[in-house]
Amino acid sequence: MYYNQETVVFVDGKFVKATESTTDLYGQTLHYGYGVFEGIRSYKTDKGTRVFKAKEHYDRLRKSCELVNIPFNYTTEELEELTYELLEKNNLTDAYIRPLVYCDPNMSLTKPNNVSLMICAWEWGAYLGDQQLRLHLSSYCRPHPRSIKIEAKVCGHYVNSVLATSEAKEKGYDEALLLDSDGYLAEGPGANLFFEKDGVLFTPQTGNILPGITRETVLELAKELGVEVKVGLFTLEDLLQADKAFYCGTAAEVIPIESLDEHVFPLKWNDSLGKKLQERYGQLVREQKLQKAA
Ligand code: PMP
Repeated sequence: MYYNQETVVFVDGKFVKATESTTDLYGQTLHYGYGVFEGIRSYKTDKGTRVFKAKEHYDRLRKSCELVNIPFNYTTEELEELTYELLEKNNLTDAYIRPLVYCDPNMSLTKPNNVSLMICAWEWGAYLGDQQLRLHLSSYCRPHPRSIKIEAKVCGHYVNSVLATSEAKEKGYDEALLLDSDGYLAEGPGANLFFEKDGVLFTPQTGNILPGITRETVLELAKELGVEVKVGLFTLEDLLQADKAFYCGTAAEVIPIESLDEHVFPLKWNDSLGKKLQERYGQLVREQKLQKAA
């Protein structure tokens, strides 16, 4: 589903067939989840394929490495170039791009001397549906920021996301909502939370969440639309009083939330600020500007 006989991936300086690439079973990332990754999207525009916010994603990849002491020498510009090359080699336009920095064989709990970079991509068509998410308040909380580097996109952190997602789906919901370890609203397993009340937009502050690139974009778009935004610590009560809510992230873009457990948000999506932001986001990612590495 992610690749076929023809698919090309980038591994350590070379473009190779996905079916012919291998990894070492003694790698530290495989055993301890000690590696970092990104999730990026490219879109088809009239002027060519555009990798949306490539710089922000690759800056975050490098920052994630730095935060957890993984040595990584690529520059953002090199990474952007490689990504466009990879898309071209695979004939991809609307795609999901997954760079992964993974560590050499090492069974000890020390930082690595050498790491590898893998970048792969697969087709990710435009999602045209108006699906609304039915959320489940997770029994898991987000990891405490003193246990991990919450701002880094580290492989192992995603066990928390997998547990929360699986729990929600097993109970018949679409997706989970996680609180932070103090009980404040945090985020979804792979997306940031926004909600609105009386024309004001609210979103949890950074500190206990992954600072999403889409979240940042939504904040910019809200400003552009003249919408008042409050960023802070909010409770479950605040959310339950809200008119409407949405998740945002690179993969899902801006996606409405219908309900949290039995509670249904009263405002129609079409009448919400979220809908306006969703439309504006959709336009922005497909704007006809070819954003290529300088
Ligand atoms: N929170 C978590 C835990 C995530 O994994 C993601 C996806 N990277 C997000 C939020 C949204 O971040 P972004 O908008 O940068 O994709």
